Amino acid sequence: MTSRLYKARSFPKGSFLDSELGNNPRFVWKSIYEAKSVMLTGLRWVIDSDRREWGVDVVRDLFNVRDQQCIFNTKPDVNSAVDRLYWSNEVSGIYSVKSAYRLLQKRKELWSVDSNDSIWSKVLWVKTPPKKFVPLPTTCPICHCADETIVHEILSYPFATCCWQLAFPSLQTTIWMDFSSWMVYAMEVCYNIRPAELLTLCWAIWSARNKVVWNQKHPRATNVVASSKQYLLQWISAQKFATKYLFSNQVVEVIGVKEALSCTKQKAWNKVQVESDCLVATQAIRSKVAMSFFCRRVVEDCRKFFTESQTLSSFHIKRSANMAATS
Ligand SMILES: [Zn+2]
Repeated sequence: MTSRLYKARSFPKGSFLDSELGNNPRFVWKSIYEAKSVMLTGLRWVIDSDRREWGVDVVRDLFNVRDQQCIFNTKPDVNSAVDRLYWSNEVSGIYSVKSAYRLLQKRKELWSVDSNDSIWSKVLWVKTPPKKFVPLPTTCPICHCADETIVHEILSYPFATCCWQLAFPSLQTTIWMDFSSWMVYAMEVCYNIRPAELLTLCWAIWSARNKVVWNQKHPRATNVVASSKQYLLQWISAQKFATKYLFSNQVVEVIGVKEALSCTKQKAWNKVQVESDCLVATQAIRSKVAMSFFCRRVVEDCRKFFTESQTLSSFHIKRSANMAATS
């Protein structure tokens, strides 16, 4: 209803993508309009040929005889003969706030040319597991004798210093006034050696600090350093596995769901709930939107299972809640 109202008022003809801000725009419309440039950056058209036939010349140019034969023996998909927009920043082709945020960050990064910012783009491109920092502006909740700055929590408070001495004995961590200068120095000292280890340890120290504050658990510095290394190694090997098989986690998850569904069908089980902690996969399966390419066949097979069997249902659950099942 709201979207129809805005359409009628702001772009009665055409779509949001051709809309204009107009004179004297209302605050809400102005805010929505701000998103247009992001949409234009991230949206792509999937264009299907009217004839629904293989481009014979193109196939002959690109593939060897055996592959050409395989291709010509495969019927092009007739269901996809409609041009449609898809969101290019998500494998599913469906828009998500997370991917738009990532896109904005990337754009910001391209704009930042001054040297102080370049260290952050370096930091952002180092391959490490994803991290979450949630800073709260107070005095240090552990020692209560310094401001809770990022320098104090990650570098200079005794526990942090202890971790740094164990992992990077040559790094100086106690004399710094601001974190970005320390980062410039640290990345210079160890950029070609172990930048990922350095960044993962920052995150591990921060997590350890959170455990003290929120759970009153006091981890040992040796354990924090060891588990930080372990975590990074596991993540690196998981990434290698993913690249080797060219499947993203989401694709693997959808295939997993399909396997589970065909198993329930074979065994004639009813009242089955399928739970997955992969949001993209559950959204793709539950959505009615035709998939552009995100393992489309498998997604459609899953949807068929769900429509055929009224007793099946699917749920997205948080990864943290799934720990018990996967550990
Ligand atoms: Zn402190």
